[in-house]
Amino acid sequence: MSAAALFLAASLTAQYPTSFTPDIAQRPDVQRATTWIDANFKAQVDEWVRLAEVPAPSGKEQRRAAYIKAELEKLNYKPTSDSSGNVWVRRNGTGGGPTLVFAAHMDTVFPENTNVKVTRTPDGKLLGAGIADDTASVVNLLNAIRAIEHAKLQTKADLIFLFTVQEEVGLKGMYAWLENNRKDMDLLVALDGDLGAVRYGALGIYWSKMKFTGPGAHTNRSKGAPNPVRAAAQCITDIYTVPLPGDHERLGTVYNIGGMMSSGNIVNAVPQEVTFTVDLRTVDKSVMGALDDALLSKCDQAARAHGVTFAREWIQKSEPGGTPEDLVDRRRHHIVQTAIDILKHLGVKLLPGEEAIPNGSTDANVGVVNGIPSVAVGRAYGGGQHTSSEWSLADSARIGTKQIILLAASLTQK
Ligand SMILES: [Zn+2]
Repeated sequence: MSAAALFLAASLTAQYPTSFTPDIAQRPDVQRATTWIDANFKAQVDEWVRLAEVPAPSGKEQRRAAYIKAELEKLNYKPTSDSSGNVWVRRNGTGGGPTLVFAAHMDTVFPENTNVKVTRTPDGKLLGAGIADDTASVVNLLNAIRAIEHAKLQTKADLIFLFTVQEEVGLKGMYAWLENNRKDMDLLVALDGDLGAVRYGALGIYWSKMKFTGPGAHTNRSKGAPNPVRAAAQCITDIYTVPLPGDHERLGTVYNIGGMMSSGNIVNAVPQEVTFTVDLRTVDKSVMGALDDALLSKCDQAARAHGVTFAREWIQKSEPGGTPEDLVDRRRHHIVQTAIDILKHLGVKLLPGEEAIPNGSTDANVGVVNGIPSVAVGRAYGGGQHTSSEWSLADSARIGTKQIILLAASLTQK
């Protein structure tokens, strides 16, 4: 390598600090842990299939939580749970360093009566609703914990293993946990998403129900009476005149109206209540505020014009983490490059310049918006998340599991 090329390589890598070096992967305790994962991988896949077949809609994670607690108790841990239903344990290090939290969510998007039977294909895929998101991470984390205990992994800092609830309905479990345990989270790694780039930002998501109410009446007696349907229709038409900012593609700015709508239930009535939902998303904090205000004022104006009452009800509110420019310092935090270097070490192909994404929609968002260095990393190769054709490539969960060991070893040295 020429001197100029050497300098360039050094300056490129110097740009982002990392805590991972290949020597860490060679440490005897780390080797014991990763060898344990390989030796027990068949049992891991069997457990993964069994757990995926336990229904866990948001708010109904109890059966999975009970299973996880029992498994942690077998390792002589004393797991804690809170009123939300989150389950966690702390593993003490030898002292010093930032407490590192690993989090996987127990809930899935699928309602209780969904068929959650898992199919194994001859080419090594697992198919089933919720097989990947986030059951794969839950089982990866459980097995990483077993491997860490088996190997007596050395860490200076404490580790917290956290299994959250209600991630899919506004990260509610993680918000509740952080509120009560803020001093226990210095670094956060959310285990969620398919294997690939490391995510260090947060997509804000506001879900509102816009509600218009008026007196309502029978058709024959309703002439000229305020009709909430007219107000709602006017409001929706007016909302579509609100322009998206020019860089909306880059900042993930989008809104969708009417994913859910409802009004009267008989033909010959003027309905008393009309509702529709708005799904508003962006990473940009100021755009989120401005667009939300604009949408609300269109609703207010329409309600006034038609003589009905307007109110917004929140369905979920998850704040944006900021634009890529806002997050320049977050990208420089060693947690991001460490996670990237570990994925590369484990053979995950990441395109140059696309290794890290300043966006995300996982429990890591809660850390990001609270100023805690946070990343989300994947669990296995797969696709079809949130659909009935969800799948994972079973063998690739080895990577998802081993990365937890390497992250735990790398991020807790000082
Ligand atoms: Zn998820």
